[in-house]
Amino acid sequence: MDPQEELRELIAQAKEHLCYYSELGLTHVGEISPSAAPAAKFEDRIAKQAPPAVSALVEPKRQEPPAPAIIPPPQFIPESTITMPTKQENASVVSLFGETAPPPAETQYSNETLEDIRRDLGDCQRCKLFSTRTNLVFGEGAPRAELMFVGEGPGADEDATGRPFVGRAGQLLTKMIEAIDLKREDVYIANVVKSRPPGNRAPESDEVRACIPFLFRQIAAIHPKLIVALGNPAMQALLDTKIGITKMRGNFQDYPRISGIKVLPTFHPAYLLRSPDKKREAWEDLKKVRAFLRGEL
Ligand code: SF4
Repeated sequence: MDPQEELRELIAQAKEHLCYYSELGLTHVGEISPSAAPAAKFEDRIAKQAPPAVSALVEPKRQEPPAPAIIPPPQFIPESTITMPTKQENASVVSLFGETAPPPAETQYSNETLEDIRRDLGDCQRCKLFSTRTNLVFGEGAPRAELMFVGEGPGADEDATGRPFVGRAGQLLTKMIEAIDLKREDVYIANVVKSRPPGNRAPESDEVRACIPFLFRQIAAIHPKLIVALGNPAMQALLDTKIGITKMRGNFQDYPRISGIKVLPTFHPAYLLRSPDKKREAWEDLKKVRAFLRGEL
């Protein structure tokens, strides 16, 4: 390839990475601090950071691609900021349905396949959401994924396509996955309810009760190492708790039904689109996900 053409391609790749991290609220490439000031507006950050970033990009040596310099090093995550709760802390969680006993444990391993579960779900009419949906959204991804993402329910784009997280929030989720060096097809993505609640309202408790057994079975079949609960309804349903996401986010929990699986609550991408100042906290959570999967926690 022509050297100038190669240089132009390197600059384009580096810009694309910068856009990922900018959208996630990353303001200091390669030196993120939990104590750093809240993220500035995207335009302000670009205005402030453009000169050094551009100068770093226009004179790269051919054998030094710019992308590795942009990815924050794993050792940057201070261990003191990562909370691994004890089993007692998990046991103190207040039940979502007012029960004091922990939910019954599923079998540790499931012989069911995702196809079995999908077949059993069929053209489901187990709750009132069936009457307003266009397509049932079962979930998609790697059947043996180490990492699962679980949201509360399909939105309009998902209802139209039958696929989870394909709208604007889904595009942000895809960027979040790529920001921790994974591809969307490496993970499994599902929701608590599989039919769209009208007007994008949160699913009601009877709808959750009717649908969540299928999510539990998906989790048992996939047996991931870690489930990232996206937003309050997903976190409360998975952990059977009434505690809010603000208190729980960023703290690893035990998945109550199968020992050895962790749950990390974080903000829903749709909330991050409405509240971009929260992207920095979400990025801190994502770094914990990456460190956990790398065995660094
Ligand atoms: S939300 Fe779940 S339980 Fe309700 S109709 Fe859809 S698939 Fe069935």
